[in-house]
Amino acid sequence: MSETETIKPFSGKRIHQNEERAADKGLEETCCICGNGIKDRKGFWAEVMEGGSRFVAEGEEPNTDDAGYMGCYTVGPACARKLKKQGSKLLKMEA
Ligand SMILES: [Zn+2]
Repeated sequence: MSETETIKPFSGKRIHQNEERAADKGLEETCCICGNGIKDRKGFWAEVMEGGSRFVAEGEEPNTDDAGYMGCYTVGPACARKLKKQGSKLLKMEA
């Protein structure tokens, strides 16, 4: 994936394999982009809108009544850094 490409929710090529691996390790929280397990709540929340086609941007107030608004999903620290770079809104998980 290039640096300029916009990162979309659920877009990781191995998301399902990674989610399964995380479940095998007993990790309940997984990244909604790559599917990797998130340890010790060292992750973030990002809001998904437009039916999963993009993340809510920093400073944007999404219409939560919209049918395409999907709410908050967990994001691992590595993907969170990329999301921050592209200007998506992130909330830190509570430890
Ligand atoms: Zn990830």
